[in-house]
Amino acid sequence: MSAPPTRLKSIREEQVLEIAWPDGTEARIPFRYLRGRCPCASCVNEFTGKRMVDVLDIPEGILIDAAELTGNYALKIKWNDRHDTGLYTWEHLRELCDRNEWGG
Ligand SMILES: [Zn+2]
Repeated sequence: MSAPPTRLKSIREEQVLEIAWPDGTEARIPFRYLRGRCPCASCVNEFTGKRMVDVLDIPEGILIDAAELTGNYALKIKWNDRHDTGLYTWEHLRELCDRNEWGG
């Protein structure tokens, strides 16, 4: 189990989620990328692992409506496209930060 982030901040004006980790790693994940990496069962086939909703399927102006901590292991995000089933565990977020696929 990963340690929780030391900072977690949704910056609406820039459409990024700012995250910092205990080891000093920091990242600003674009909302659109984050929404396209939603790990829930309607975005990823739970049997085959195939991704059904990807970053390119997400509108440019996507925003976070609300986010809340679930236990001390995940962030539950409610998006303004009404999608709210995604639980972003610290492991998942950390992996996204380390991959840095959005290029910046
Ligand atoms: Zn999802």
